[in-house]
Amino acid sequence: MVSVLQSNPSLKLKWHYLEFCQKILGHQYVITNENVIAAVETATFETSQQVRFVIQPGSPQEVQACLKAAQLFGIHIHPVSQGYNWGYGSQVPDENLSVVMNLSRLNQIKVDGKNATVTLGPGVTQQQLFEYLRSNYPHLFFSLTGSSPYSSIIGNAIDAGYANGLNVIRWNHVISLEAILPSGELLKTGFDALPNASTAGISRYGLGPDLKGLFRQSNLGIVTEMTLELSLAPAYLQIFYFSIDEEEQLGELTDQLHNLKQTGLIESNWILLHGYRILAEVSQFPWQETDAQRTLDRNLMLKLLRQQQIPGWSGVYNGVFAIYSPTLRHAEAMKADIHEVLNNKVSRLKTFTVDQSQIKKLRWNRNLEIPELTHKLLKGRLLTFAGIPVQGSIPISYWRKRNSIPEIMDLDRDRCGFIWLAVTAPASGTDALTIVPVIEHFFNDYGFEPMIVLDGVNSREMYVMTSLVYDREVAGRDEQARKCFERLAAELRTMGYYQYRWPKALSVENALPERNDDYASVFAKLQSSILGD
Ligand SMILES: Cc1cc2nc3c(=O)[nH]c(=O)nc-3n(C[C@H](O)[C@H](O)[C@H](O)COP(=O)(O)OP(=O)(O)OC[C@H]3O[C@@H](n4cnc5c(N)ncnc54)[C@H](O)[C@@H]3O)c2cc1C
Repeated sequence: MVSVLQSNPSLKLKWHYLEFCQKILGHQYVITNENVIAAVETATFETSQQVRFVIQPGSPQEVQACLKAAQLFGIHIHPVSQGYNWGYGSQVPDENLSVVMNLSRLNQIKVDGKNATVTLGPGVTQQQLFEYLRSNYPHLFFSLTGSSPYSSIIGNAIDAGYANGLNVIRWNHVISLEAILPSGELLKTGFDALPNASTAGISRYGLGPDLKGLFRQSNLGIVTEMTLELSLAPAYLQIFYFSIDEEEQLGELTDQLHNLKQTGLIESNWILLHGYRILAEVSQFPWQETDAQRTLDRNLMLKLLRQQQIPGWSGVYNGVFAIYSPTLRHAEAMKADIHEVLNNKVSRLKTFTVDQSQIKKLRWNRNLEIPELTHKLLKGRLLTFAGIPVQGSIPISYWRKRNSIPEIMDLDRDRCGFIWLAVTAPASGTDALTIVPVIEHFFNDYGFEPMIVLDGVNSREMYVMTSLVYDREVAGRDEQARKCFERLAAELRTMGYYQYRWPKALSVENALPERNDDYASVFAKLQSSILGD
């Protein structure tokens, strides 16, 4: 967040702001400890931004006071909700010498059980909301990302995050929010600020322009509260697992999944994961069997994957989606229809069904056995689609690490190299077959395994995501990863595939082509009127 006074913050000003924050927040919530600062300056890729110190306000009023003062002192503020933005920059600010505002103390949760909504603070994690709903509103659940259970919901929504199952693109399910601008002004969207408004917290749009979009991926203000949609727990949850053996089948399968989604048969997102990605979820790089300097050979990858004996998932691409049913009749009819459509498009197809009482038990004890669901990876996906936090797909980050995966995974601390390259594309077989070989070519060139994921997030669009996964301890790999990212992103842009989320702290050439509108000048005007530059 840029201040009104663009004066070079001198050491003197820095100390003034520090003292101000100490006075307002108390010394324990102004962190200057070198080890903590070093951790906050560390991401899953190379960065050079330095952090002055970290502040942890405990109320919106404290956020407001700290923002107003920052503007006077000419200090950049970088907000994080929980700071688990792994692969996109972790807690590292975009601007050098920022103060990081950690909002994890703002963790209030309020649920409207009748209208299935939750109003929460930025510090609320996926795990906290899960536990709260399990104890207080067992008929409701919240969709989960594949990231850490301790990552936030608000930070994820603001940074274009997406979840699995229902309510996939988080921002689409934000009803309203409260934000504080650098001037200290407070803004509420929808009808939330009007006295006695009967649709406060349930109506997305008040009168006039919808201002909540200003706060998505913008850093124009700090969101101190957000109201989001929840989902009704289903009577039956079915998970479909399938795979294909030949890359040529990918086009037809993508078209078929798109069709299932467009016709409304599938309500959840559909996901296709490359074999490399699945292998990395269940094992680490086979150091003994191959040359570590190169990309793991495709045939060896498939052999190792098949040794894992994951029912339904042993192909070059492996897919999953879920059906949420209110009745058994609905569940059975959907299963029959989907099997009819998919059977001859895939090499294997398996369905597992759990009912409400099983889901309830799993919510309290995720170690419970599910008959026939023998592999932990498949069970992990079922739990995720049921809104029960697991470790997500975080273990893939340790794929190229020489030591084993620690109990508590911290990618920044453990120097796991991880960069997300995520583009949006039309959900079509032609697009899948156009993009995938390009990613494979670049990854192969630079010696990274193409852990590609195609994710049908809505009935028109798919996210094509791939992650550069490496060991930051290996000299030169940070640089190689950055170059691969830069070149591949540029190539995909020329093909018309743009990133929808960007690791801003990564110093790369983000040369977007010239737009054929006046976005830049319009946004600059908005920015200067909000930030006061
Ligand atoms: C293996 C792996 C799997 C992953 N899977 C997923 C996935 O399935 N879906 C997904 O979306 N992501 C995924 N991620 C990426 C990332 O870990 C998540 O998006 C995570 O939720 C981000 O961390 P956070 O929620 O703690 O947000 P934060 O790090 O707190 O915030 C993210 C950014 O949003 C802005 N911000 C945060 N809070 C505020 C605020 N209150 N006001 C204004 N701006 C704010 C800041 O710029 C901040 O840098 C994955 C990462 C890895 C490594």
